[in-house]
Amino acid sequence: MTYDWQAALTFFALMFGATLLFNFLLFKVPAFAQMREVNRAVDRTKLDRSAFRDAVKINNRVGLAVNLIFYVTVLPFCIGFVPRSFWNAASESAAGPVWWLFVQIPVVLLVFDFMYYWTHRSIFHGNLLRKVHALHHQARKPTYVDALYVHPVETTIGLLLFLGSMPIVAAVTGVTLNLFSMVVATFLFTQLNTLNHVYTRFPAKFPFSWIDYITGVHASHHIDMNHGNYATLTMFYDKLFGTFEEPVHRPTA
Ligand SMILES: [Zn+2]
Ligand SMILES: [Zn+2]
Repeated sequence: MTYDWQAALTFFALMFGATLLFNFLLFKVPAFAQMREVNRAVDRTKLDRSAFRDAVKINNRVGLAVNLIFYVTVLPFCIGFVPRSFWNAASESAAGPVWWLFVQIPVVLLVFDFMYYWTHRSIFHGNLLRKVHALHHQARKPTYVDALYVHPVETTIGLLLFLGSMPIVAAVTGVTLNLFSMVVATFLFTQLNTLNHVYTRFPAKFPFSWIDYITGVHASHHIDMNHGNYATLTMFYDKLFGTFEEPVHRPTA
């Protein structure tokens, strides 16, 4: 194994820059700026409660710490500018096919979504950590800030499942992942996990109709703790394992 700190540092800088740029550009679109205002108004009333505010603060700190520890200790072994052997530092690895640069993005996301689906369904909704997960489920009609209203134990597990999917794929294939592809995967993971909770009511035309569909699917999971839609990025596993529920329509936030 080789510790590629330059790749990890570039990954961190690109993630940071891409997130800033995306947020700047996204809210130039009037429909999204309006959506943000509606969510902010409701979020403010939730954040008025000090217990809620504290929980969000702890979640953010724990999330940042888990990410940074992973970026320093594990990530440099699994990513690189060019592919190299994951297990054997001495052996030069073949460059590999170009399509793998693109395909590794959905592969990492689908590996994560599979692990998250079963963790969410059997541990967070099972006996083991149901009480921990109940904090997040206090949100019956989620808005933006509810994506951050998560118990630190759940935040740690969820993040490690995603971050851990990178070394898993690198270990199984025996080749490190491309750092740019992993920036895209991590960006999609972060944005989709936040978007899930946002209150939206858009005009029924593409791409807005898709966004309403995505948020409606997760809103259905939040109705109570007995609803399906356990996966967080796609509906694939819920459809596969028979726990998919139709999205709910929310007239108000
Ligand atoms: Zn749940
Ligand atoms: Zn949720």
